[in-house]
Amino acid sequence: MLTDLIQIKREGEKKHAENLSFRKWLKSHTFVERQFHKAAQEVHDAIDCRACAQCCKVTEVELTERDIAGLMKLLGASRKRFFADYVMQNDEAKPILKRTDEAGCVFLSGNECTVYDGRPADCERFPHLLRGAGSLESKMWKMPDRATFCPIVYNWLEKVKGLTKFTK
Ligand code: SF4
Ligand code: SF4
Repeated sequence: MLTDLIQIKREGEKKHAENLSFRKWLKSHTFVERQFHKAAQEVHDAIDCRACAQCCKVTEVELTERDIAGLMKLLGASRKRFFADYVMQNDEAKPILKRTDEAGCVFLSGNECTVYDGRPADCERFPHLLRGAGSLESKMWKMPDRATFCPIVYNWLEKVKGLTKFTK
């Protein structure tokens, strides 16, 4: 299993077009989803997210009202203070956790999440292979991009391409 983050980036980018073709190919074939979930569980079990934290560095975290309430409670912050210190807007004017391209999420310290017990649902579910609603097929649209930085997604896609005997 590939875990080196530099290799993941290089291989994920190299295989991006192939992974897009796989996503399209998957839509025109029928498979038992259970085998995809089993593969996702195996990859999750084999990879230590604490040695990675790439999702906290790379992705935007959209906030729901529930996320906001949970974080405000955890931090003991008023809504005004919370929005001033920890929230910005994305290109669609939706509230996301404050972040920079250099440091990632405002709550990331090294590879540690400093608000782990109150982290947003999106963080808890990432990379959305095992958690969250919807079929795996419906979640596939973001996977080729995620495979360029997330070891779980990269290895899962490789496993699933093998299981389905996908040929380029
Ligand atoms: S809140 Fe925590 S888990 Fe979510 S992106 Fe920020 S550091 Fe990562
Ligand atoms: S979910 Fe993926 S990107 Fe995020 S820490 Fe785990 S392996 Fe890394």
